[in-house]
Amino acid sequence: MSVLDEVLSANDHYAASFGGKSELSLPPARRFAILTCMDARLDPAKYAGLTEGDAHVIRNAGGSASDDAIRSLIISYKLLGTREWFVIHHTNCGMEFFSDDLMEGLCGQSLETAALGPDGFTDVGSGGGSHEAKYIDWLTISDMDQSVIDDVARIRAHPLVPGRIPIYGYVYDVTTGKLNEVAGATEAGRAR
Ligand SMILES: [Zn+2]
Repeated sequence: MSVLDEVLSANDHYAASFGGKSELSLPPARRFAILTCMDARLDPAKYAGLTEGDAHVIRNAGGSASDDAIRSLIISYKLLGTREWFVIHHTNCGMEFFSDDLMEGLCGQSLETAALGPDGFTDVGSGGGSHEAKYIDWLTISDMDQSVIDDVARIRAHPLVPGRIPIYGYVYDVTTGKLNEVAGATEAGRAR
């Protein structure tokens, strides 16, 4: 079966027992939001105990407080009433394994998927790349705890984010499933 068929088949099963979820209201019932990485090993519904209708989950590469993540967080509180936010990065994140320069080089060589080996990512294509990558800030991570602190601090300092919203900072451990607090981030994100 192709991935498309698998997904549509899974959706048939899901929709067949949709039940009371048709009555869920638009604002998240538990009034909180999580900003986290898109990494396939992370399932916020499971690691944070969510079900449909509970919370907003905003995901991107790294769980970065990018302009677009902040746009979503502001909509989350201003229009939909969330009152507490989590920034959750994780161990062994792909964003630790490259730099803007490396990405520019890889994309400049080809559009094939790079290979990840002990020495990091290498290009395996044969031409046909683009230099557009140099115009993108890839928001890579060099120090995991510090990246959580920086992202929480950026959200905290945003003029459209009210001081009453506490912002908690955590690193999810992909080897144990545990959320480990980054004390400096929770400090930086304290409500005021
Ligand atoms: Zn990641």
